[in-house]
Parts: sequence; C-alpha cells; structure tokens
Amino acid sequence: MQVGLEKFMRGRNGVDQFTLFILVASAAVLLFARIFGLHLLRLVYYAGVIWALYRTFSRSLFRRRRENQLFLEKNRAAGAWLKVQRRIFQERNTHRHFKCPNCKQRLRVPKGRGKITISCAKCGEKFSRKS
Ligand SMILES: [Zn+2]
Repeated sequence: MQVGLEKFMRGRNGVDQFTLFILVASAAVLLFARIFGLHLLRLVYYAGVIWALYRTFSRSLFRRRRENQLFLEKNRAAGAWLKVQRRIFQERNTHRHFKCPNCKQRLRVPKGRGKITISCAKCGEKFSRKS
C-alpha cells in the first residue's frame, strides 16, 4: 500500500506550501459560510479543494514549483509589510512615519515637535511635515 502510493506520487507535485495555503483559506471560507449561512460560498470551498487536489497530483512540476515560488515571495512581502505596520502602530504615540516624496524611503521622526524639515537618509531630499 505504502509502496503503491509512493509509485503513484512519483513525478507528481505533492503537497507544497501553496497547496496548504489554498486548503486553509478554503476551510476559512467554509467556516465563514457556515457562520453567516451563506451556503453558496461553499462552492468556493469545493473549488479550493479541487484546486489543491489538482496541484498535488499535477505532473507539470515546473509550473507548480514556479507558482509555489511566487506564493512564497508574496507571502514574504506580506510578512514584511505586516511587520512595518505593527511597528508603526506600536510607536504611534512617540513617532511618526513619512515616505520620502522623491525615493519613497520610509522615514521615522519623533512626534510632537511641530512643523519640521525632514531630510531623507537615502537620497538627501528635504521636505517639511508636521510631526
Ligand atoms: Zn529619499
């Protein structure tokens, strides 16, 4: 039985991070559908499960790996963005954050100093804002 499954899975994608994410997101949608009585939303759950099965048994390894890689990159970017948002929130009473109008670098200044001139540490651009 074990050997048969191994033989069957040879050359197939198997379960990767993106497939796990699809399953978890689908389960979350199902839970949401149950709580709010939105029965049609269950179709999204079934579609997610079918998509996850398709990816697991797919033999197009190159495409599936590229999708998974893209997912991991987006996930990392989302994680970094969340980290910045959490920091901005934690420092909301002591610091303000601005984006440089020239290079979009994020800049952090102490709060409550009135109107100040900020010079960008990256490109040297000067602009004034109310701290
Ligand atoms: Zn700049």
